Amino acid sequence: MSLERFAAACEAVAATTRKTEKVRIMADYLRSLDEDDRPRAALYLTARAFPQHEERTVAVGGSLAWQAVSRLARIDSERLAEVYRRHGDLGGAAEEVLARLPGSQLSLADVEAAFRTLAQSRGPALKVERLEALLARAGPLGAKYLIKILTGDLRIGLKESLVEEALAQAFAVPRHDVQRANMLLGDIAATARLAAAGKLSEAQLRLMHPVGFMLASPADSAEDLMEAFPGGAWIEDKYDGIRAQAHKGGSEVKLFSRTLDEIVEFHELIPLIRALPGDFILDGEIVGWRDGRPLPFTQLQKRLGRKQPDLWLPLEVPVAFVAFDVIYHQGSVLFDEPWSRRRERLESLFGNTLEPRLQLSRAVWGSGADAAQRALEAALARGNEGIMAKAADAPYTPGRRGRYWLKLKRPMATLDVVVTAVEYGHGKRHGVLSDYTFAVRDGDRLVNIGKAYSGLTDAEIAQMTEYFKQHTIDDQGFRRTVEPSVVLEVAFNNIQRSNRHESGYALRFPRILRLRPDKPVAAIDTLERVAELFKKQARPEDR
Ligand code: AMP
Repeated sequence: MSLERFAAACEAVAATTRKTEKVRIMADYLRSLDEDDRPRAALYLTARAFPQHEERTVAVGGSLAWQAVSRLARIDSERLAEVYRRHGDLGGAAEEVLARLPGSQLSLADVEAAFRTLAQSRGPALKVERLEALLARAGPLGAKYLIKILTGDLRIGLKESLVEEALAQAFAVPRHDVQRANMLLGDIAATARLAAAGKLSEAQLRLMHPVGFMLASPADSAEDLMEAFPGGAWIEDKYDGIRAQAHKGGSEVKLFSRTLDEIVEFHELIPLIRALPGDFILDGEIVGWRDGRPLPFTQLQKRLGRKQPDLWLPLEVPVAFVAFDVIYHQGSVLFDEPWSRRRERLESLFGNTLEPRLQLSRAVWGSGADAAQRALEAALARGNEGIMAKAADAPYTPGRRGRYWLKLKRPMATLDVVVTAVEYGHGKRHGVLSDYTFAVRDGDRLVNIGKAYSGLTDAEIAQMTEYFKQHTIDDQGFRRTVEPSVVLEVAFNNIQRSNRHESGYALRFPRILRLRPDKPVAAIDTLERVAELFKKQARPEDR
């Protein structure tokens, strides 16, 4: 029953565009629940199956959910694609195609148990089977919202901050207290429990529980970067690795990733971090590191996803932990201290450690665009990917992207490519062909190398959609193979070897910069140029 009520509350939230009204509906709903269901509902309202700090994930993405829905509704993928295009959301499509299901008898406790079972189920076939069974018991409306939770977005205009606000309203406590507790716990369910019990002040920063990471905003140029800091800023190298939060309490040490999952691949760092004095939480980057220089990210990547210790890999791709902030030290939470004070602490904590695999980020004071430009060039010459500028008085703002930290990266290479296939987009782009697969030239052949959401304007996308419809070679429902005639300029962060595409390479974070109607398909970039760019990003000795 309670899944139906959850879904009904979501529908009511979706039906109004007014934020105050959304919050009121959620507050009433959350207040009406019992102690066990309230934390579950708060969590599901943020479109998460498990609290952020838990490592568990359901690992049911759009495509498994798609299969489960089409099996349960006994319709083929093409028909589902048609309905999906009308809704722009698989949850909405599921409600329509599953309309004949009886209403749901599921409680939120049943949903919680089912998510745990799904998380433990290994292999896509078993997951699809179990999800199908769950959806069958969820009823059309319940299925709609279960899918939205599993795909990570309810699409009812409810951000986590509004759920926090609703909790504050429901239990007449200051919003700031709810936000603070949620930030510290990284767990909206636990926050809901404390808010209802009037115990928000009990939320403590806890060692071995990851906290949200402070994020940086991008700058386009050295001028742009330093305009934000007229009085000057601390300029650090920007290391190209994996963000990591290092917790140490007594002899226990854990590393957490930006997604707040535990990082287990870099065993050799643990005893080194353990040897630093005191209890702390450090923020930093794990980088591939050899002979006093960073290794390209593509090297570091070889170590990701290997859960079992490997004897040789740490020798082949050695790493270092580069610390750039400290947010907890010897009992003190340091969020509100200015950056410069935290830096002093960090320096004293590192003392004179001679271990090359533990480093402090390089930070120099600078003001003006010239200083930033020089710092950028020096950072690139050291093999890093750019610079960060940080305000000396910046607090640490977990989970937020602000103007206290700005980043400036190396100018990127671009490639001219041709579109070979297109897909319908998501959300407001569900009715237009906005996801493009593109290729480079290999002799007479075209070989795919990447896929990107369109960075074009809405008007351009609408125009291209019409164009692609008329130049389709093969219509597969949600995807169309098209005549290779549209040339694009794409930017990317780097190139990886990959067998996902027939070129044998994949672009990391590709972005479409513009259409190149001036460029004939015969003049697009070649596979040789890709191979050259790939080599260039590796260090000379890795070639
Ligand atoms: P981006 O991932 O491009 O949004 O850039 C932000 C990321 O840069 C952070 O999440 C860190 O992983 C990374 N980073 C590298 N060096 C630093 C540094 N010195 N200070 C802060 N972040 C850094």
